[in-house]
Amino acid sequence: MPRLTVNPDRMLAELDHLRTIGVQGTGVARRAFSDADVEARRWLVEQMQSAGLEVVVDSCGNVFGLPPGDEPCLLVGSHSDTQPLGGWLDGIWGVACGLELARAALEGDGPRVAVVSFQDEEGRFGRLTGSSVWSGEMSMAEADACEDQDAHTDPIRFAQARQRASEIGPLGAVSPDRFVAYIEPHIEQGPVLDRTQGAVGVVEAIVGVRQWTLRFEGEANHAGTTPMPMRRDALQGYVAYAVALNDAFASLADERTVWTLGRVVAEPNAASIVPGAVTFTVQMRDADAGLLDRMAKTATTIAEQVADARGLKLIATPGFSVAPVPMDLRLRHALEQAAESRVPGRWQVMPSGALHDASNVARILPTAMIFAPSIGGISHNPAEDTRREDLALALETLGEGIVRMSNAL
Ligand SMILES: [Zn+2]
Repeated sequence: MPRLTVNPDRMLAELDHLRTIGVQGTGVARRAFSDADVEARRWLVEQMQSAGLEVVVDSCGNVFGLPPGDEPCLLVGSHSDTQPLGGWLDGIWGVACGLELARAALEGDGPRVAVVSFQDEEGRFGRLTGSSVWSGEMSMAEADACEDQDAHTDPIRFAQARQRASEIGPLGAVSPDRFVAYIEPHIEQGPVLDRTQGAVGVVEAIVGVRQWTLRFEGEANHAGTTPMPMRRDALQGYVAYAVALNDAFASLADERTVWTLGRVVAEPNAASIVPGAVTFTVQMRDADAGLLDRMAKTATTIAEQVADARGLKLIATPGFSVAPVPMDLRLRHALEQAAESRVPGRWQVMPSGALHDASNVARILPTAMIFAPSIGGISHNPAEDTRREDLALALETLGEGIVRMSNAL
């Protein structure tokens, strides 16, 4: 059986260095194709080359480090760009794991591993732009048209920004055919592992999203002269709806289902006028598509009941919808076995509540994800952190998982 002996200290030292590129206080600012992002990618290219990997930077700025030989291999990585002001681990920890695994595999007799850092995962231009184009989810022309969301005036487009890819390393194209599977290590960005003192999470699926915009229309009227029984108060309808929805979802949902009444606009929003209309969003997220269907049905049925009971008119408009993305079972089981061997009793199977590059890559390659805990569940924030021993444990678990995967595939 091939072996893979990883060096967690080497990975941690590289993370410490990467943190200095774009550092702002305890956080990091490396927007896609900013000076700091290009510098970090160039530094990654140097480490990949000195590890004996062949580097190819594609036209999106995705950086690939490929082991010698033509046989298809595992691909491990994530992204090295950040939110406008992000934490020091979001994305880059997965790239650092990929680099360490690819290097350790070459040093020993481990299975061949390639590493990737996808570009613009954090949406300076599009959303998960680099992995969207690479997986065929988005055309290059569509990506090129995306404008810089950070700019207040005269935004540049992705087409212009990606000219900087040539500053990062040797340009070329990397076909997904070169890989047998994709594994994305990522910090959890939520509180579940931290709260349960878990060391490792094995992702079962990346959750899907359903969203509706609902509007109750009643009658705006004088708040002093309109008797209570004669009112058609849209905001009171919203309040009744929120209570009824929470009750219904509490019995329908499982412990990981989440829903949010995130945006509420009352009209005319004045102290002395009975509210005539209220428009609000209801968003539901879960890993189970069937449950999302039932929740969406319940959300609109309750709105109809509230509108009928209160003499309101209901306008219900479906909003954005993303299907859940299940992870590959064979890869998942390899990670579960590795976790049971490395951190017995301190791991769990869990959904990912956030979107990742894995959401795109799962369309074209068997895909799995492994989580490390986030202290306090904090992410997209300079306070984002994970204990160093947990980063090391998750890397070692992944190292064993990769060996098991290469036997299973
Ligand atoms: Zn991320």
